[in-house]
Amino acid sequence: MTVDAYSPVIGLEVHCQLNTATKMFSPCEVALLAEPNTAIDAYTLGLPGTLPVANAAAVESAVKLALALGCEVAGESRWARKHYFYPDLPKGYQITQSDHPYAIGGEVLVPGPRGREAETTSVRLTRIHMEEDAGKNIHLPGEPWSLVDYNRAGAPLVEIVSEPDIRSADEAARYLRCLREIVRYLGISQANMEEGTLRCDANVSLKQPGSDRLGTRCEIKNLNSFRFLELAIRAEIRRQRDLLQAGQKIVSATLTYDVDRDRTRVMRTKEQAADYRYMPEPDMPVLVIRPEVVARLREQLPELPAARRARYIALGISPQDAAVITGEPELSDYFDAALASGGPPQKICNWLTGELLAARNNDTRPLSQLPFVPAWLGQLIGLIDDGTISGRAAKEVFAKSYAEGIEPAAIVARDGYRQVRDTGALEAILAEILDRSHKQLAQYYGGRQQIRGYFVGQVMKATRGQADPKLVQELLSKALAARAPAAD
Ligand code: ADP
Ligand code: MG
Repeated sequence: MTVDAYSPVIGLEVHCQLNTATKMFSPCEVALLAEPNTAIDAYTLGLPGTLPVANAAAVESAVKLALALGCEVAGESRWARKHYFYPDLPKGYQITQSDHPYAIGGEVLVPGPRGREAETTSVRLTRIHMEEDAGKNIHLPGEPWSLVDYNRAGAPLVEIVSEPDIRSADEAARYLRCLREIVRYLGISQANMEEGTLRCDANVSLKQPGSDRLGTRCEIKNLNSFRFLELAIRAEIRRQRDLLQAGQKIVSATLTYDVDRDRTRVMRTKEQAADYRYMPEPDMPVLVIRPEVVARLREQLPELPAARRARYIALGISPQDAAVITGEPELSDYFDAALASGGPPQKICNWLTGELLAARNNDTRPLSQLPFVPAWLGQLIGLIDDGTISGRAAKEVFAKSYAEGIEPAAIVARDGYRQVRDTGALEAILAEILDRSHKQLAQYYGGRQQIRGYFVGQVMKATRGQADPKLVQELLSKALAARAPAAD
């Protein structure tokens, strides 16, 4: 059997920074963009005599996440110390939850790839736990020293650990997108990979076909974009296949992804792994999360992306469009507001995912602050549907309305976009055109049907594109029939 038949098995550990005002265990402000080492306090620096106090807002955010992901929330969970020596960790240990996390189980339903969104897969969760972040070391190239910024030290994190249920690099990225979406709908984190408020480690192994036994896993650390996550997993699958092909064993290791060479590189093997000397955190009591609190937070959960997608699909929207719309909570809210003001869902969806998203490509304003408000989409569609403007004019009206923040109906009135549907006026224009088109008429009656397009084009030109094309076609048919030469 060739190693090509081996299938990838992937489990992700995702860190997400909660967007609370203060840190996990102290009232120090969380301000990631502040000048280095200004958002710090005695606890953050690990000064003697300081004690941790859990941040209730962080715990509530974490519980919301657990509920949204279908986890069981533990009534009692425990804090642990994880020791390691590194300049980014002033206390010399990190408070985390090891054997008794606050959330267990749960599941993420991951939509299929683009165009096959309905083919969802289930990725089970092992657990979620809370912890405090470390500071940030800054290594300047060529310098014999490093800098350290403690602003991030102590910021609240949740770590979401998946079961090894993921089967491809692409599925891993979709899973992570799905998590990011849920977190953003909950409003508990910016969940931005570039800014480091969403971070991911990927565990990868290869499994023999037909076997129940999982292969030895290797862990790729600190993947900070969706692209790198996919590339790194693919590179790691190649590395493991090559090793197996050469008859070698996979050694459990921690790796880093080298972007320039598109390769994973071993940082340390299991034997070299640090011993974190976990111990129960003596300065923290058991964390009690009461059922009343869980019930209250459950009530506060917003409608989540999967439920919104299902709602849109029930309105006749394609799964692909539904996925685009729910990709951002703001876009989905905009769509909902447009629906609420009336208008056919599919047409609203077309304008939203077409014209509006294109216009917004060069716009940094949040959707909620656009002068072009959701109700105007319905209004614009109404103007097309009742024949006031043509589809072509509508695009121009939209562009002006978006740029100027003036409602479509007002643009139509101001700039004369109203379609000419005055039968008498159109008949007169048509008659004039036909009178001077002897050659084209002869061709038409000689059997060249396509010449109709020429006549319609002339009417459009004469009306500056504002004639109702359907009406022009009708009047043209009548006029041509009336002028037909006698068939003798
Ligand atoms: P650690 O902190 O040692 O990395 P965790 O329990 O936090 O351990 O995370 C283990 C991760 O590795 C989980 O996401 C799990 O799904 C994944 N995993 C476990 N076994 C395998 C395997 N054989 N192949 C791929 N991933 C695995
Ligand atoms: Mg790990």
